[in-house]
Amino acid sequence: MNLHLAVIGKDVSQSLSPSMHAFILRRLGAECKYEAISIPPEQFAERAEELFERYDAFNVTIPFKGDIIAYLSELRDDAPVFGAVNTVLCRERAGYNTDGFGFLLMLKNAGVQVKGRSVLVLGAGGAGRSCIKKLTEEGAEVYAYERNEDRLQEVYNEFGGFTPLSRVPLRKFDILLNCTGIGMHKTVGQTPSCRREDGSESPVDKKLLGLCETAVDLIYVPAQSEFLRIAQALGKKTVNGDSMLFYQAYMADCIYLRRTPCEREAKNLWESYREERI
Ligand code: NAP
Repeated sequence: MNLHLAVIGKDVSQSLSPSMHAFILRRLGAECKYEAISIPPEQFAERAEELFERYDAFNVTIPFKGDIIAYLSELRDDAPVFGAVNTVLCRERAGYNTDGFGFLLMLKNAGVQVKGRSVLVLGAGGAGRSCIKKLTEEGAEVYAYERNEDRLQEVYNEFGGFTPLSRVPLRKFDILLNCTGIGMHKTVGQTPSCRREDGSESPVDKKLLGLCETAVDLIYVPAQSEFLRIAQALGKKTVNGDSMLFYQAYMADCIYLRRTPCEREAKNLWESYREERI
């Protein structure tokens, strides 16, 4: 099979997707031509249609995961619940979201059990709401902090199943999960903020990280965010988002190839991808 694929986003010039998907697809027995297409947001409406003619399928990243939905006939699997699409099959105009698969497999393969554990999710944007949903489905005791309280309330109205941090005292959580994006790009060296006991908001520090067992950050560039650096210095287990990125790509490639995903295969591929990169 020879697929013509792309990733679209505002700026995908540095995206890892072309090489990552080419690696996975080759190992799964398919060839692909995979392009990175940066689209200025103001041009998205005029350029969206041509994507469906040009490619067999494409991946979608920031800020178009919601915008692409208007061009699709069907949302499948997690996509309708997440309200965001990262994988599109062009002929069927079908949209999927593979981030949840990637998130859960990242935790599982890192040995992070979530069932019955308390998890504080920081940030309820696109990725945060998907993680909240998946964690509640997996039986975690989920708490969430989002500095935009209206946004968190919207997620609560939609899913429920978690406790907004504003309703409980700040305490020990087994797992802290950074879904804010604070710690990458212009915020390298910073940690996300969180509500304090007195109701004020301040950056997550040694005190809160000192109480947890595991710190997980969806950020993968840099490989160690400040959030994870502090946690590691305190002797905590830390997990970054690089395997999530790989696993969500693997799942997308399984969709492209109409192949049933296999967790063991995904893990083996991730390990050989990492070895090749070192
Ligand atoms: P997003 O939709 O912009 O959501 C980020 C959320 O965090 C927003 O609600 C934002 O609020 C909030 N926030 C911003 N600054 C904050 C701070 N200082 N303290 C607390 N909350 C703050 O972004 P996203 O798409 O969810 O992505 C979030 C992160 O996940 C990014 O780093 C992205 O790269 C990563 N991600 C990784 C993977 C992977 O495969 N590893 C997959 C998906 C996403 P405001 O709107 O008020 O700024």
